[in-house]
Amino acid sequence: MSRYLCHEHPDLLTVETRVVDARPGAVVLERTPFHPGGGGQLADRGVLRWAGGEARVSAIEAEGERFWHVLAEPVEVAGIVEVAVDSAFRALMAQLHTNAHVISALVFQRFQGALITGAQLNADGTARVDFDLPEADNERLRALEPEINDVIRQDLAVRYAYIPVAAAAAEPGLLRSRSVAPPPTADGQVRIVEIVGLDRQACGGTHLASTGRSRPVRILKIDNKGRHNRRVRLALADA
Ligand SMILES: [Zn+2]
Repeated sequence: MSRYLCHEHPDLLTVETRVVDARPGAVVLERTPFHPGGGGQLADRGVLRWAGGEARVSAIEAEGERFWHVLAEPVEVAGIVEVAVDSAFRALMAQLHTNAHVISALVFQRFQGALITGAQLNADGTARVDFDLPEADNERLRALEPEINDVIRQDLAVRYAYIPVAAAAAEPGLLRSRSVAPPPTADGQVRIVEIVGLDRQACGGTHLASTGRSRPVRILKIDNKGRHNRRVRLALADA
């Protein structure tokens, strides 16, 4: 897992920087506040401004440790630029992502350490989280909706730490996903996201500063996807 600028400074959404590589309609920047996406989270969106113009950043393409900011127009840009994250879209992803942690914490606690098998956050304010739950009663899963909203009302703080990968692997549930573990940093650390009083899990995404910053959540639907997979679909209220 790389350490992104948005990890160290989640509130820094606009940065003045320099184009270090370019092709028509895309740039690599010296520094960027954008989250590139991953683990079910969509990449940040936003805008690139330069002397005499601007273009929407419509996608991020990872090329190793370099991130191409793909522009909505085939312009060629060089030199000093300003890049700004779309704050509403960031907030939407952070709400969905934080609530994905909340439901996964409740499922882990109520269903004997059940792990995540997949997740996808969507731009329309919905998300799905898949769990390895061969036996669960869907009504018990549905009953988590008021509990999620209770955690939102409690406004629990969200904080971060880096711990050695071996320590992360040794603590049950810290690597919550059955399929993908976030890769360690160059110095062998894993980023841990803690919802204080509720949950800790390894994750490289963007989250709210506290759970109370989320709109309420509805559970839309629960699908059985194969013998082991239970898919829970969530939506933010009014989404
Ligand atoms: Zn996360």
